Amino acid sequence: SEEYLRIPPWLRVKLPSGRTFNDTASLLADLNLNTVCQNAKCPNTWDCFSRKVATFLIMGFVCTRNCAFCNITSGDIDPLDIDEPRRVSEAVSRLKLKYTVITSVTRDDLPDGGAAHYAETITRIRTDHPDCAVEVLIPDFQGNLEALKTVIAAKPNVINHNVETSPDLYSEIRPQADYKQSLELLRRVKDLSGGIPAKSGLMVGLGETDEQVYKVIDDLAEIDCDIVTIGQYMRPSTEHPAVKRYVEPHVFDEYAKYGKSRGIKHMFCAPLVRSSYNAAESFDKL
Ligand code: SF4
Ligand code: SF4
Repeated sequence: SEEYLRIPPWLRVKLPSGRTFNDTASLLADLNLNTVCQNAKCPNTWDCFSRKVATFLIMGFVCTRNCAFCNITSGDIDPLDIDEPRRVSEAVSRLKLKYTVITSVTRDDLPDGGAAHYAETITRIRTDHPDCAVEVLIPDFQGNLEALKTVIAAKPNVINHNVETSPDLYSEIRPQADYKQSLELLRRVKDLSGGIPAKSGLMVGLGETDEQVYKVIDDLAEIDCDIVTIGQYMRPSTEHPAVKRYVEPHVFDEYAKYGKSRGIKHMFCAPLVRSSYNAAESFDKL
């Protein structure tokens, strides 16, 4: 039988409840919008929703891929909802957001991977809310350069793409992805975007060693990635891979120190850090 590690105290979070939390959740439900907060069972949902912060999950809640660590459903895909950019923008008004993070499922079924839908969402928010910064957390578009250029042309404020884990674990954890392709996407953002910051992130506790974590930080420093997030993997359900280790908070500080020494402008590393956690604050640090 499998051995379970005890969840350490630094990962205990409040359960979602409270008035502002409920207001945020019902506003999103009213507008028929998905969030990665809810669909991926993020442990910070109470914290973020209570501050009226959410990360929109566009292009449906069903993914064409099936990464081992991820709680998002995989299977039959819904057609694109062309009214969605308008509703995301309406949520930005109603939540009074000054910074918004947009992510999506991976749509390998679409020729452009959904890049045009991203661009429309960014443009719609830009037009309706010129003061609101937009960060996009995009899929790899299977290496499609034109798709990436479409997103870049819409001029988001930050382009985020997660490498998620060490390349040595890809076959097990992220089998439909390619580490080199993800790094190449980030390098292209730096080369082609004329100064849009590149952001990436990974999880620890999936079976990687610290040495492998430092190697990923080296790779991200090499392509001049501006912001790197590192957080603890937490198993969304017993169907998902077990946590292999709980990394102590002080080790996250070591990751941050190392990344900074390698020239990465902002390292955001702590057990509960997620790719979109306190994104506005990370952006301000650039
Ligand atoms: Fe949502 Fe990101 Fe906050 Fe998690 S950290 S609740 S995904 S905004
Ligand atoms: Fe989850 Fe993204 Fe993997 Fe899809 S591609 S299963 S949304 S991590």
